[in-house]
Amino acid sequence: MAKYRGPVCRLCRREGVKLFLKGEKCLGPKCEIEKRTGPPGSHGDARPKKMSDYGVRLREKQKARRMYGILEKQFKAYFAHAARMTGISGDNLLQLLERRLDNVVFRLGYASSRREARMLVTHRHFAVNGRPVNVPSLLVKPGDMVSVKPNSRAKTGINMNVGSSSQHAVPAWLLRTDDGFDGRVLSMPARDQIDSQLEEQLIVEYYSR
Ligand code: SF4
Repeated sequence: MAKYRGPVCRLCRREGVKLFLKGEKCLGPKCEIEKRTGPPGSHGDARPKKMSDYGVRLREKQKARRMYGILEKQFKAYFAHAARMTGISGDNLLQLLERRLDNVVFRLGYASSRREARMLVTHRHFAVNGRPVNVPSLLVKPGDMVSVKPNSRAKTGINMNVGSSSQHAVPAWLLRTDDGFDGRVLSMPARDQIDSQLEEQLIVEYYSR
């Protein structure tokens, strides 16, 4: 379960967009993207060069990878899986990424970012269909129930995020129960139910070159 351990705001600056990796900070004036422009490094503020077609595709792939917190090798494996599935490879790729347990925990509002969700999952605060899990990459499927474990319900971080549920729109393919501590997977996520500004076709083209 390797993960990137460097400064995360640097990743947003590199991609030139908010990747929402730091929860509440991303919504306020302290966000690095709000404060400065240009990629990181001593030449970061230099005039941007025109990107090649390859560069555009590479950046889109990196953006998706960083947004979901996945390292290169695993991301490539997701693409290979998506390409083997029936349907549109780009849609399949986003669907696989959305079905990851850490993303589902984030989408259900139990964490303010995917990074925090990943940490909560690895610390065993969640169960899937009643069984405790600590694997952020586990892929959920329709009918699965993702629950906050009973003795984790008083944990401040999880409570806070459930409490702010009115600000956190749960996507239509998920349903959170009235008490807020259980979430059901209603269906596979359709492209129009995935709140993402990614241009997945560029990622397909990157891997198809
Ligand atoms: Fe990115 Fe959030 Fe840092 Fe802003 S605060 S640069 S959105 S990680």
